[in-house]
Amino acid sequence: MTATLGALEERARRRHDDFGQDALIVCDSLVRIYQSDGIEVQALQGLDLLIEPGELVAIVGASGSGKSTLLSVLSGLDVPTAGRVRVGAWDLMTMTTRQRVEYRRSMVGFVWQQTARNLVPYLTAAENVAFPLQLAGVKAKERARRAADLLEMFEIGYCADRRPGEMSGGEQQRVAIAVGLVNDPQVLFADEPTGELDTATSHVVLESLRTANRELGTTIVVVTHDAGVSEHVQRTVAIRDGRTSSEVVRRTHTREDGTEHVVAEELAVLDRAGRVQLPKEFREALNLVGRVRLALEESQVSVRSASGAARDREEQS
Ligand code: ADP
Ligand code: MG
Repeated sequence: MTATLGALEERARRRHDDFGQDALIVCDSLVRIYQSDGIEVQALQGLDLLIEPGELVAIVGASGSGKSTLLSVLSGLDVPTAGRVRVGAWDLMTMTTRQRVEYRRSMVGFVWQQTARNLVPYLTAAENVAFPLQLAGVKAKERARRAADLLEMFEIGYCADRRPGEMSGGEQQRVAIAVGLVNDPQVLFADEPTGELDTATSHVVLESLRTANRELGTTIVVVTHDAGVSEHVQRTVAIRDGRTSSEVVRRTHTREDGTEHVVAEELAVLDRAGRVQLPKEFREALNLVGRVRLALEESQVSVRSASGAARDREEQS
């Protein structure tokens, strides 16, 4: 009996360890609880997320759904209450303070919503981009060359000698992307980088992230309110109440005549415990509350209102 239990536990543990083995970023049942004035806020409620190397992923969700909390955890600024989180070889739960500093310096880059938080106001665009390299001990000539290359890549070479106050919001955010990338991080995190920009400018900034992903191979995770974001990325993950609820995946499909078109499909996320979230519209349309009746049919699973199903049976008999 004990041996069987032991074997079961071992199997459960192994399954846990294997989750997302090949992924670059693994969030496994992440929980983050904030305590403020004796009140508990569950910002992350068992969030699972896998991101493969080289992906460009957008995270969307209502205000308060846990997006910034997730990004602070992934960028090493915050430690979750429970769960498992790994980025590359870095275990963000057990990392020491020193490893945390090293992780933030060498593995990841960031872009924040507030343009002012990203750039030093009294340095020019080129100096801002070169600044992290100076800290890393790179020689002046090499620093200038790398800064110029990145500004050129994002088509803002003409801003090289301007200070942040002399640039538009969109130009500043593109300089911020260059700053975030100059140390050649494996991952770039951007928390609402387009939050303060109009739609047209947002598109330019999102296209810059796409350019970085394509040209440099950087894995990019971008949080945004921008409803149009799924046009710019391969995968959009929606977060609701601290968990991933659905994903939009874009694929390029080739028609019989050889022309290509993009297919975007929204999929619900089935978590590892088998849970899936029914959209509010579905629940309201069929008045699904409390308990529901599940049935396995030939090639699908149906969800019915428990009271409705009982009525149907009575009518049949
Ligand atoms: P989003 O970025 O999606 O708007 P956040 O991650 O900022 O969401 O917040 C998720 C929830 O956690 C919210 O209810 C928010 O009020 C709460 N929260 C975030 N940061 C803190 C904090 N430092 N202290 C207490 N509650 C917080
Ligand atoms: Mg936020």
